[in-house]
Amino acid sequence: MKPFIRSLLLPATILFLSHDAFAFTVVIDPGHGGYDNGANYSVGTEKRIVLEVSKKLAKLIESNPQFKVKMTRSSDSPRSLKKRAEMAQSFSGDLFLSIHANSSPDSRAIGAEFFFQHQLPPEKSSLFLARREEHHGGRISDEERMSFGPAHKNPYVKSILEDLIRTQSIHSSADLSVHLVEQWKGYKKSKKYVIQQAEFYVVSNVPMPSVLVELGFLTHKKEGPLLSQKSYQNKLAQSIYDGLIKYKESLDKTL
Ligand SMILES: [Zn+2]
Repeated sequence: MKPFIRSLLLPATILFLSHDAFAFTVVIDPGHGGYDNGANYSVGTEKRIVLEVSKKLAKLIESNPQFKVKMTRSSDSPRSLKKRAEMAQSFSGDLFLSIHANSSPDSRAIGAEFFFQHQLPPEKSSLFLARREEHHGGRISDEERMSFGPAHKNPYVKSILEDLIRTQSIHSSADLSVHLVEQWKGYKKSKKYVIQQAEFYVVSNVPMPSVLVELGFLTHKKEGPLLSQKSYQNKLAQSIYDGLIKYKESLDKTL
């Protein structure tokens, strides 16, 4: 390249690369908030625990200039599921992470679970939803119950191209789930991490790869109290961050 052209391009490139538009935007969605406690046990409320972990994760992501972070809530305020999906769109996120904590009437239930976008036929979906409600022991909030309802059905007029984008997004979400599991450093006795396809409202209604992370069970006698501890929360935030980095690396390789 001729030197004078290079001298023209270099400052422009630096300007270009430093621009925010080139950062990879991660939208963090701490579940519940305000009047909606989510799961509520003596070790703490789900809404508080997930906000604490989300804030720690946001700090880690912010420290990396490759990323930009947005949150659907950063205080104890309620957000409808529709509002969360709308916010994710308005942030032009590249990735959506919804953070929750689990509960079960079975006190042995333990470990993190990762849910990504849904692709099951309706009859299987109903079975899944019924099992899921059972799993929550009927203690789920109205808002959460809504999230298990059928996500919007694609009107006939929506193009094949849109379906392809959606399929791509589902594959990316599955990839992200795998990286998150690989990097997970949760409670050491938890051997099983579940990856499932689910029709949660938030992960099905955002036009970007999205995963819902259940950090662990508040109802487990050992895992529950850990979820409230700052050091354990740091470990979980670091796990999710490490998963994100690996996901981004694999994405960059395909470009
Ligand atoms: Zn929840």
